[in-house]
Amino acid sequence: MLVIRCAACKNKLWKYDKIGPGEVLRCHKARITKKYSFTAGDQKIQCSCGKDIGIDKGSFIKMISKAFTYSGTKRNC
Ligand SMILES: [Zn+2]
Repeated sequence: MLVIRCAACKNKLWKYDKIGPGEVLRCHKARITKKYSFTAGDQKIQCSCGKDIGIDKGSFIKMISKAFTYSGTKRNC
């Protein structure tokens, strides 16, 4: 499980069940297991500090790579 954090303020955004290796380019909403503080509106996903984190694409969030960091382990499938 990965914890996704804002790169600017280090706030926790959500927990994500990442399957397989590779970069976190998108987050599928079905695999977000816990939500912390962020706002979703007008297709933009923003941290509570106002920084853009990603773009809402419906079933997944297209992540802005420089806007977030993550820690934890990816699940191998
Ligand atoms: Zn932030």
